Amino acid sequence: MTDGPEIKEIHIYQHDLPVKNGPYTMANAEVWALDSTLVRIVASDGTEGWGETCPVGPTYAEAHALGARAAIIQMAPDLIGTTLWPLVLQRKMNGLLNGHNYAKAVIDIAAYDILGKVLGLRVADLLGGAVTERVPSYYATGVGAPDEIARLAEDKCAEGYPRLQVKVGGRPVDIDIETICKVWEKIKGTGVRLAVDGNRGWTTRDALRVSRECPNIPFIMEQPCNSFEDLQKIRGQVNHAIYMDESSVDLNTVISAAGAGIIDGFGMKVTRIGGLTNMRSFRDICEARNLPHTCDDAWGGDVIAAACTHVAATVRSDLCEGAWLAAPYIDGHYDSENGISIQGGFIALPKGPGLGVVPDLEHFGDPVASFGV
Ligand SMILES: [Mg+2]
Repeated sequence: MTDGPEIKEIHIYQHDLPVKNGPYTMANAEVWALDSTLVRIVASDGTEGWGETCPVGPTYAEAHALGARAAIIQMAPDLIGTTLWPLVLQRKMNGLLNGHNYAKAVIDIAAYDILGKVLGLRVADLLGGAVTERVPSYYATGVGAPDEIARLAEDKCAEGYPRLQVKVGGRPVDIDIETICKVWEKIKGTGVRLAVDGNRGWTTRDALRVSRECPNIPFIMEQPCNSFEDLQKIRGQVNHAIYMDESSVDLNTVISAAGAGIIDGFGMKVTRIGGLTNMRSFRDICEARNLPHTCDDAWGGDVIAAACTHVAATVRSDLCEGAWLAAPYIDGHYDSENGISIQGGFIALPKGPGLGVVPDLEHFGDPVASFGV
């Protein structure tokens, strides 16, 4: 291995992202503002790179904003002087802290940003090569009244989104069924694909009933119930494809779920799986098994949006379920020129080297902690 750039400084920032027209509602959470954690790494040659992680509140997953910062602070002193080659860095982090993928992901993403800038390559090309410059996105409705969600679905369909996701759960399942039927009435025949996301909120009883009462609506059921075991239990009894999201907490679980054949695809979060290094492995596992998947994150601004877009651009097109971004719910950008946005349901892959977005430091104030200075 030749000498590459090393980590010289790590600066950690906290940033509040209010939800535009909030709250955003899921089966087990209602969020008005999100607490994002950003890291700026300065490499030994002076190149700077950024990473970001922004759990969508403390109940969506086993991730929370304070935990992200604590985990990075735990590892940071020992990361100074470490090479930025992603695999070596990943192993170094695993030797410093067990678990906490969503925090390690921030460092991993920043490393790719730096390597891209040093080599003059985009992150998508470092990840194997972009297969598109126009990455599909999908729109996720919150949990809402059936008529209101149907109207929203119709609007987003007209905007050009190739896929819609309807949130359900946390209320009587009759209302969820009514919502799914009303949404389908609006979008059937358009070619727009439909996902119904329970965010762990249904019992297996609810999931079985929904599948039974909507036999002719071709939606995929995303993380309908809480656990791996729940999904296993309903697997042989439903007529709808099942995707795993929240339960796919690491590569090991992904391999088990794919190997056992209990799922037909994944909703995947870049930070939950541990960053772009693990996301690349995940993508390749899915391709080997012909499993479609998304490339999202839970929430966050331009930095994590860029990371999701770059990896999604490398996914085989028939397996790419798109990159969901929080952008429609956020005012403004970290990078006013190259910030990531969705136009007509698609995202333009950034052109610049690395992530292709360069946050303006003035948004974040003083770092909450700095190392190596
Ligand atoms: Mg989901």
